[in-house]
Amino acid sequence: MNLSLKNVSKRYGEFSALKGLNLELDSSRCLTLIGPSGGGKSTTLRLIAGLEKADSGQISLNGQLLANDERKLLEYRKSIGVVFQAYNLFPHLDALTNITLPLEKVHGFNKTAAQSRANELLDRLQLSEHSHKKPSELSGGQNQRVAIARALAHDPALLLFDEPTSALDPNMSAEVLDVIEELIQDGTDCIVVTHQMSFAKRVSDSIAFITNGEVAEYGSSSDIFDTPNTPELRNFLEQELKY
Ligand code: ADP
Repeated sequence: MNLSLKNVSKRYGEFSALKGLNLELDSSRCLTLIGPSGGGKSTTLRLIAGLEKADSGQISLNGQLLANDERKLLEYRKSIGVVFQAYNLFPHLDALTNITLPLEKVHGFNKTAAQSRANELLDRLQLSEHSHKKPSELSGGQNQRVAIARALAHDPALLLFDEPTSALDPNMSAEVLDVIEELIQDGTDCIVVTHQMSFAKRVSDSIAFITNGEVAEYGSSSDIFDTPNTPELRNFLEQELKY
């Protein structure tokens, strides 16, 4: 992916969540956003996803400037897949229907094509035997894998993950992180907000350290983890790697 954020600002009421954030990346496969809670990572991700609009500044993905026009933004959102911390599955629908419904209602698949695509993904994510279970009948890790299957189903240009494992215990986190790592290895472009530092270090080709509404440091995995420049990043890594 090529991604550019130029002087991007976002306010919530009086509060400035992003204060003229800048980030430029060329031909990156996996960008991770790290930093302290409240620093602006999820806000950045939601703006890149087109789920919210910036107050000022410009965002472009693969050479395409994000529109302000609601209809164009809706089209853009269809080209992205997003996985949220809390899965955001429909509780009354089984795993299969959680995947087929958006394919039919949003992406224009017919029923047969949607079912075939959903079954292919359930199989790929080793969920075939759970396809008729509802979210309450699945573990957290399985629910997150269903959410990943749903996000992948329309073959998006980019997958965004917003703290995909923070609701999961260590075993389930590992199961979900392995799936994300496989997707990256298979060539899916991803942006991941995460507190899992060893995962970020292993899978990212670029990392942005976001704090106080700005990118305070940006670089390769080894730039960030082996030679952090700012005291803020050094302190952050010390805290994160302590436990
Ligand atoms: P991070 O992902 O780094 O934890 P966020 O992007 O979620 O940070 O939040 C950045 C700041 O913006 C926080 O102070 C948060 O409370 C605030 N914020 C985020 N979303 C909203 C919202 N919808 N309404 C009001 N404040 C928000």
